[in-house]
Amino acid sequence: MRDCFDGFVIIGGGVCGCLLAHELITRTDANVWLIEAGGEQAENATDRQRPGRWLHLLGSSDDDSHPTEPSRSLAGRKMDWPRGRGLGGSGRINAMIWVPPHRHDWRMLSEAGLEPSQLERSFEVAMNRMATESPSYLSEPSRLFLAAMAMRSDFGTFAAYRRINRNSRRWTTEQLLDDVRHNNPAAAARLRIIRGSVSTLHVSNGRIESVVWSDSNSTNRTNLSSQTKIISCAGSLGTPRLLMQSGIGNADELSQLGLKTSVHLPAVGRSLHDHLIMPVVHSHDGQAFPGTPPNMSDLTRWQHGRTGPLASNIAECGGFDREHEFQWHVTPTDYLRYPNAKAEAAITLGVSLTRPRSRGQLRLFRDLASSSGFRLVIEAGYLDDLNDIERMIEGVRVTRNMAVHLSESGMRLFETVPGRRRESDEQLVAAIARYAQTLYHPGGTCAIGPVVDDRFNVHGLTNLSIVDASVLPHPTIANPTAVLATLGCLAASQLAI
Ligand SMILES: Cc1cc2nc3c(=O)[nH]c(=O)nc-3n(C[C@H](O)[C@H](O)[C@H](O)COP(=O)(O)OP(=O)(O)OC[C@H]3O[C@@H](n4cnc5c(N)ncnc54)[C@H](O)[C@@H]3O)c2cc1C
Repeated sequence: MRDCFDGFVIIGGGVCGCLLAHELITRTDANVWLIEAGGEQAENATDRQRPGRWLHLLGSSDDDSHPTEPSRSLAGRKMDWPRGRGLGGSGRINAMIWVPPHRHDWRMLSEAGLEPSQLERSFEVAMNRMATESPSYLSEPSRLFLAAMAMRSDFGTFAAYRRINRNSRRWTTEQLLDDVRHNNPAAAARLRIIRGSVSTLHVSNGRIESVVWSDSNSTNRTNLSSQTKIISCAGSLGTPRLLMQSGIGNADELSQLGLKTSVHLPAVGRSLHDHLIMPVVHSHDGQAFPGTPPNMSDLTRWQHGRTGPLASNIAECGGFDREHEFQWHVTPTDYLRYPNAKAEAAITLGVSLTRPRSRGQLRLFRDLASSSGFRLVIEAGYLDDLNDIERMIEGVRVTRNMAVHLSESGMRLFETVPGRRRESDEQLVAAIARYAQTLYHPGGTCAIGPVVDDRFNVHGLTNLSIVDASVLPHPTIANPTAVLATLGCLAASQLAI
């Protein structure tokens, strides 16, 4: 039991939390307490570093997945939303795709009040911190796809995705902390990592005065010294949940749950957004992408040559149409079945809207079976906006045109999902309802504007900030890690003053 936290307290050691911890211990003389809910994983670390293994990590001990409520527009389907736990957060289990922020992302953030020049400077810093590299391996279907698209610029721009890897191994922001232990032991000595889950922040006189957290042994309430700053990096589900459990949220809803309101902030948990991907799957006449378990020669190729199919992140390449309305992810597999089914020769062209308009929300529900006394209810709101459905149909049709072009370029394809006989709008709507998947990018639940100001401070509280995917007012154009790392570096530069 500790008497008091001083300096900075970071809740959640995910993509943003570890990056922020690194910046604060290296840029200031303060102590940094990092409280991470996930413990140290028992699973073989080398195994987890294989890029191709990320799909196996879903549902593993690294994944604290949450089910959504049934979605009206997805024929009442529920979805599992994986969330990484342990240092590195969702970076431990993600697909490692690195897409630099697009000008629409800069505009979205500057409209929320962030200074464009500071954002660009912070992105430079983020690029220095994050380990990214070009892929060392591309499967045959991805190479054929990229060659075909290079002949048709009217489809847009496509490339192999840069990966969040170091030497063809998964890299997470946890490794920044390992590096600092090695390179700067004095700074590392000021970092204290607590393996515990924070359940409540106690508010008094407009500031957080203490933190309730539990580890495997006990539940503790620790006070904050008067200058201590607390930063929630618990992610787009974890942060709003923590705020609501602490009485920070919509006063009416909190009182219905029997919670005393500390700060009335109705936007906590609202404006939930995510990218939805519709996989258009084809079988082909080439070779199947290797399934599992890996064979010895592939294992040796990866371990010693840092290449081969095990160095693949599966979602190997993709791109955007000219207007950046759609993003495509291409996998050399049947996206809906790999790695669970017997390996078959397939390629998936998955299409998503870059800026969906639909919004969902998070709520708490009293649940005595849960250790916190509450369950998180996720209403994803997928395709609730009619415009999103119309554009998804258009996206599937464009994807089919790409597949025709790919066939004409020499790859013999047969569409299995949605299936060629599904032609009409109604049939495509039904197929999207049945097959579309989360692209794992929830955000917006504590947005800059209604919940935090342009310096990430929570309205109405003097010592609480939020730096994670929950602050994104709108979806990023593509995979969000690069934008989030930029926000982490920007927040660090402001907190370090
Ligand atoms: C399967 C999957 C694939 C993805 N693929 C990509 C990709 O290829 N490219 C890309 O750019 N993005 C990808 N993403 C999205 C990206 O990983 C997330 O947007 C990003 O990790 C969010 O960062 P964060 O810091 O907000 O939260 P996270 O990284 O999720 O970290 C939150 C941390 O907080 C901890 N925590 C939560 N609640 C508490 C609490 N109460 N107390 C203490 N600790 C707590 C959690 O254990 C976790 O470690 C993917 C995500 C998933 C799940």
